Amino acid sequence: MMKKLIAGNWKMNGSLAANEALVRALRDGMGAPACDVALAVPAPYLAQVQALAAGSALALAAQDVSQHESGAYTGECSAAMLRDFAVRYVLVGHSERRQYHGETDVHVAVKAQRALAAGITPIVCVGETLAEREAGQTEAVVRRQLAAVIHLNGHCISEVIVAYEPVWAIGTGKTATPEQAQEVHAVLRAQLAAASPHAAKIRLLYGGSMNAANAAQLLAQPDIDGGLVGGASLKAVDFLQIIAAAQ
Ligand code: PEP
Repeated sequence: MMKKLIAGNWKMNGSLAANEALVRALRDGMGAPACDVALAVPAPYLAQVQALAAGSALALAAQDVSQHESGAYTGECSAAMLRDFAVRYVLVGHSERRQYHGETDVHVAVKAQRALAAGITPIVCVGETLAEREAGQTEAVVRRQLAAVIHLNGHCISEVIVAYEPVWAIGTGKTATPEQAQEVHAVLRAQLAAASPHAAKIRLLYGGSMNAANAAQLLAQPDIDGGLVGGASLKAVDFLQIIAAAQ
């Protein structure tokens, strides 16, 4: 069975002092985890967390990457810059980027391509809003979002990680039931299988109010290969329990 990935998304939270306490607690409490673990930290803290996590099982992730290679794009971080800090993964197309920063499927595809070109694994986020779910559009929405990254120039979709994050479950405390999540993951897996012989090896993460209490059941679903964890990744005790649930 493939190794699961638990990725924490700190979003725009943290401080030098809080990050140090959190990463030290994770290092001390984690032992040798059965799963891969990553922390998606705000860009200004990449260097700090790189140093704090050195020599541990914690991999570094970023929360976004520029669609441009370099140049006059004030405020942006390029994939090469992320690579300088040994960033292994980058979130691409998180619903908060799609919602508040106008990111389209086209932007998401270009960003994923930039990450891959720099040797960074994109974690491409897909997911429907509540209105889309209620209108019966869940499958069409996630299939459209995934289709945008399935044929990236010169790269195989098996180099990408996909995170299914129903927008209505993010930061709301409303988790998709394991059955609801599995249903969508199965749709995504089938779409991947139609495009790649390596579909069974592509990691499909679930995200949306995953916590210490619900992680084990979600992670037990056949097509859920890990978690993307927001709020609960800021509390060492909770995040450690999620890591422990990912066998
Ligand atoms: C996320 O930001 O990717 C997320 C899943 O957040 P939360 O766990 O807080 O719902």
